[in-house]
Amino acid sequence: MTRNPIVGDILKRYTQVWAINHSMAVLGWDMETHMPEGGARPRGMATGELAVMAQKATLDLDGLVRKAEKAKDLDDMERGVVRVLRRNLDFFLKIPPELVAEIQRVTTEATVVWRTARKKSDFRQFRPHLDKIVQLERKVADKLGYEKHPYDALLDQFEEGFTVRDADAVYARLIPATKKLLAKVTAAHVYPAKHSLESVRYDSGAMERVNEGVIEMLRMPKARFRMDVSTHPFTTQIASDDVRITTRYEGTNFKSSLYSTIHESGHAMYSLGVDEKLAYTPVGDGASFGIHESQSRFWENVVGRSREFVKLMSPLLRRDLTFLRGHDDEDLYLYFNTVRRSFIRVEADELTYNFHTALRYEVEKKVIAGEVGVSEIPSLWNDTFDDYFGIRPKSDAEGVLQDIHWSNGSFGYFATYTLGNVVASMIWHKMKNGAQIQGALEKGDIAALKSWVGSNIHRYGAIYAPKELQLKVFGEAYNPERLLQYFDAKFAP
Ligand SMILES: [Zn+2]
Repeated sequence: MTRNPIVGDILKRYTQVWAINHSMAVLGWDMETHMPEGGARPRGMATGELAVMAQKATLDLDGLVRKAEKAKDLDDMERGVVRVLRRNLDFFLKIPPELVAEIQRVTTEATVVWRTARKKSDFRQFRPHLDKIVQLERKVADKLGYEKHPYDALLDQFEEGFTVRDADAVYARLIPATKKLLAKVTAAHVYPAKHSLESVRYDSGAMERVNEGVIEMLRMPKARFRMDVSTHPFTTQIASDDVRITTRYEGTNFKSSLYSTIHESGHAMYSLGVDEKLAYTPVGDGASFGIHESQSRFWENVVGRSREFVKLMSPLLRRDLTFLRGHDDEDLYLYFNTVRRSFIRVEADELTYNFHTALRYEVEKKVIAGEVGVSEIPSLWNDTFDDYFGIRPKSDAEGVLQDIHWSNGSFGYFATYTLGNVVASMIWHKMKNGAQIQGALEKGDIAALKSWVGSNIHRYGAIYAPKELQLKVFGEAYNPERLLQYFDAKFAP
């Protein structure tokens, strides 16, 4: 499969790392779906041990990777393998195990405190823990190294090669333009701020049948894919022929269950669509968090929230959700596309979503640089929110404490949600400003859309770094203009 004997050797030995990761993926999936509470402690112990084994097995490859880095005749796939392993090695070589253990300890405790602090809406309770986490994240940035901004090192962990400079460029264009558009859209009252279907209760058995119908409609392969239930929906690639998603049934506002199923299916298509030659290798899944998110957002928003898709999906919604009688397809479309200013990110619509990530990005950037102290975060948060939305959170619970990410130590993650939106719109642009998508959906040809993303993006796995992949497919990278063009085409009154 590989031509270079050193890379061949690396891949043979990498099977061990792959096997450990495979086991951890199954354990992680089980923990979120089926494990009884009592399993938490032993599961934590087992995955902790496995993580150490994976680290050791990866470090054992350092010598060979060093040799391969000197080779001049590597093909794209071989270069990808070496690049991805070097990133993993870099992390293990630069971050001492004591620091990893300390982060683990501090974030486990912080997550417990965050839950009560959010319930009481009291940032002061969480503040000392966040203070510690910020200090540790700065340490990680210093150890990993950066050229200009310490936050670059943290962004890079989630989106290879993505920097403060890139993110500033995206948001500087996106935010003011979206603000203007949002003002126009809300004044025009075409897209409703609220819809009566949001409060209708559904039967979870009926909703399950709807979701089963949708994944069938999306042609998810039965022998390589399954769907379960968990509190927070996610996708996990257990192996190239074993990808699993979860969804949830909250009992009201059925679009939330429906669109999380479509979103996770988009992630799953990516993981299932990687060239089978890349199975068991370090490049056997997506290129980055942002590119992965572009696939889920493409199916959830660009495809899933279009009039044509809603029409296509309508019969199977009506088959099981009897309360939809009296709502025509256009009304369903409007229900799926309500637009309103809201405090909570996970409830945000397509148009307002990026304000939420921009807000988190601005706060993280300033805190990591030391320009803002942790105690100043709530006021910075509320001021920035006010600037973007023209409304102010009334409490920490609906403001700064809403998301779990900081208590996990995930600094640098939020921007990838917006990168996902941006890259999804670049696909839309490349497909003739959506005309190709519309055409396929009018014929019910889901396969044509899957084949486009499959052959242009999925099959490459992580062979190319995200920017390189975008340049190859689109001739440009992280271009916010495309998202604004997409918004204009869809929402401009
Ligand atoms: Zn996602």
